Parts: sequence; C-alpha cells; structure tokens
Amino acid sequence: MVEVSASKTEACNDVSPAADWALEISDLNVVYNTGVRAMHAVSGVSLHVAEGEAFGLAGESGSGKSTILRCLVGLPPIASGIAKVTGHDPRAGELRLYRTCQMVFQDPYGSLHPLQTLDRCLSEPLIIHKIGNVDKRVRQALDHVGLGAKFRFRYPHQLSGGQRQRAAIARAIILEPRTLLLDEPTSALDVSVQAEILNLLADLREERNLTYLVVSHDLAVVDFLCDRLAIMNQGLIVEELSRDDLCRQKTASEYTRMLLSASDSVWTKA
Ligand code: ADP
Ligand code: MG
Repeated sequence: MVEVSASKTEACNDVSPAADWALEISDLNVVYNTGVRAMHAVSGVSLHVAEGEAFGLAGESGSGKSTILRCLVGLPPIASGIAKVTGHDPRAGELRLYRTCQMVFQDPYGSLHPLQTLDRCLSEPLIIHKIGNVDKRVRQALDHVGLGAKFRFRYPHQLSGGQRQRAAIARAIILEPRTLLLDEPTSALDVSVQAEILNLLADLREERNLTYLVVSHDLAVVDFLCDRLAIMNQGLIVEELSRDDLCRQKTASEYTRMLLSASDSVWTKA
C-alpha cells in the first residue's frame, strides 16, 4: 500500500472553468479512417451541458454516441469542431482535467485491469495525481458504491457483473470529479441489477451535485437519470428535448417516435 503525503495533495483540486459550460460540443465532426474507408461517425453535432445538469444522448447502436464521449476525453481523431470540458480541450492532455471529468466505459471488464486488485486499481489514480490519504479514500470509494472493504483485495474476475460496474464507478469517482461521462452504464448487466446501478448513479449525482452526460440506446435509462436529452441518428442530432417532453411524447421527429415505441418502459409511463 503506497501512501502519498497529504501535504502535496490539496494544490490542484480541479481545473478552473474557462467557460460557463461543463461540457461544450460545437459543430463537431469525427471521421474514422481515410479515403474510401472514411467513416463519418459524427457530423456537425452541437451540445451544451451546464454544471450540475444530467444530459442524455440516446439513439440506436452505431449512431455516434460513444464517439462523442470519447472526444470529451481526448480520444478519437476530431476532424473539425470543438469538444471541451469546462472550457478546456482534453486533447491538450492536462492531467488536472482528469480530476474534473471521468468516464465510465461501457464494458466494466475492459476498464478494470484483470491483474490488479480493486485496491491497486483505486489507489493508482490517487498516486498519479499525488493525492494523499490513499488508504482512507480507497475505503470510502468502496463504501460509496456499496461494495465495502471485503471487496478491496479482489480481482475483477472475482466480482459479479453488477459488482464490477460498481468497481468501475468507484474508480471514476475516486478523484472526486465534477463530471461523469457514462457510456451505456447498465447495458452489460442483467436486468435484475440494472435498477441497482441506476439508483446508485442517481444517488451519487444528488450527493455530489455531479454533471452527467449519459449515453444509452435505452430511453428508459436516459429518462431515469437525465433532465434533458438529445436523440442521435447516423452521426446527427435529430432533436433535443426535455424529460417532460419525452414522457409526454412531445416530439417533432418521426425517428424519436419510433425510438419511443421501441422502448416499452417510457412508452407505457406516458
Ligand atoms: P454508438 O456508441 O452510438 O453505438 P459509436 O460512436 O461507437 O456508436 O460508432 C459510430 C460509428 O463509428 C459506427 O458506425 C462505428 O462502427 C464507427 N466506429 C467507431 N469506432 C471506430 C473506429 N475506431 N474505427 C472505425 N470506425 C469506428
Ligand atoms: Mg456506444
């Protein structure tokens, strides 16, 4: 167990906002590959998410949702446009930005190192960011996600799917970010544990006043977690609507109506 001196830690608690928006995407275009294999995954997308807001991005598989999240952590090649976190470009690789914004990936197996215990996996970001009280913070993070100390020295393969997703969420919150990017947070889980994870995410947001950008193909997930949402299709934003509009099926788009009719839980609620 490596302990980092607490005196080094408080220096850079977050990145000062350089803009009013927690997340800003303006006229974003992403093209994978070049030439005849060029794939326009995102075309002219603009979205703005305020501090403390929960915004959903819904649409069928392949519509470009994950690509947008990945741009916000500086991953895919952006052809043109802007993707910023608190006014900062994540491609600049500022270490401190990762304390402000963290991503929970779709596949918790893929985001946890198979040869690392949860203790190691949760300690690592604290050590990299020179944050003290590692032992206490690891215990607190495990408690916050409902795992507790008995899971601390387990490996990912020794966890159930729901426990693994809780561990991935613990890893995302251990740096106390203000924003979480959640990529299909329940799609890899059994139906029986999906509600548990959604409740955990809703509670965490309320406790910490977090900003969420939630990607899901399931409108019920977005309806549960988000105040506002955008519908995507083939790399384009079809429309933006509020959760109330969604529940009352007040939509201007035929595509959204189709998506609603495919999502039983939202449809029957209206
Ligand atoms: P979604 O999350 O909505 O399912 P993605 O953002 O993952 O969609 O993908 C959008 C499109 O971009 C899809 O057609 C997908 O096949 C393609 N794509 C995603 N990642 C890559 C990549 N690394 N290289 C080439 N094409 C990609
Ligand atoms: Mg995806």
